[in-house]
Amino acid sequence: MLAEIKNVSKTHESNGNTIQALDNINFSVEDNDFICIVGPSGCGKSTLLRIIVGLERPTSGEVLFKGEPISTDNPKVAMVFQNFALFPWLNVTENIELVLEPLELRGKKAENKACKYIKAVGLDGFEKVYPRELSGGMKQRVGFARALAVEPVLLCMDEPFSSLDALTSQNLKDELLMLWADTSMPPDAVIMVTHNIEEAVYMANRIIILSPRPGKVVADLRIGLERPRNRKDPEFYRWVDKVYSLIV
Ligand code: ADP
Repeated sequence: MLAEIKNVSKTHESNGNTIQALDNINFSVEDNDFICIVGPSGCGKSTLLRIIVGLERPTSGEVLFKGEPISTDNPKVAMVFQNFALFPWLNVTENIELVLEPLELRGKKAENKACKYIKAVGLDGFEKVYPRELSGGMKQRVGFARALAVEPVLLCMDEPFSSLDALTSQNLKDELLMLWADTSMPPDAVIMVTHNIEEAVYMANRIIILSPRPGKVVADLRIGLERPRNRKDPEFYRWVDKVYSLIV
């Protein structure tokens, strides 16, 4: 077992209001899991992901990674953000090298590692380019390269395609699935938050459905479709309908 989400509940306090975002979430993450977390807007998907990577603390319950409590500085867990979260004053290579510093990777070693993952995401030739010169899709490629460069065991992604246009997003999904199919590449498991059900059925081998706030697990489905998946396949649509039917 890679990670365990145990009895996780979360209550946010803001301006004197108390909002219960998550209610007693339990599931475990195994090697080779590609989990999509879906649910209605505001049900706590992002909160759950932030707790899993250690960016937020649960109000009660815990997240264990390989049996130990998760911490933000765990290099074996990486995150890809919806808005890319790149540093505008650093070029592509420098954005990636920054996350390698805590791993004691500097100089030529860091540059080589950054270049390996820049190439893996199809950005060779853009090593010295600054984020402002890149399209949204290219920025997110840097986001993937940066997350993969730490060679994480668990990759967490929060709506990584939702700020991209349809075609760019589809290309990037297919490329990410190709990297996922390459067993010589990290990670061993993925958790992705999405509000897009078709995207979840296209990518995941497991879909966890949350209820409206406070988010509770209402279903944990194994998607048995072969890869590469075909959106026109009636079986694909049966899965999409099933997930829709479980979302309130
Ligand atoms: P989702 O990702 O499913 O749309 P979120 O996890 O972003 O949901 O939010 C769940 C609920 O918690 C929402 O009602 C949101 O407004 C609230 N929330 C999220 N983060 C905070 C915060 N830092 N402070 C107060 N409320 C928050």
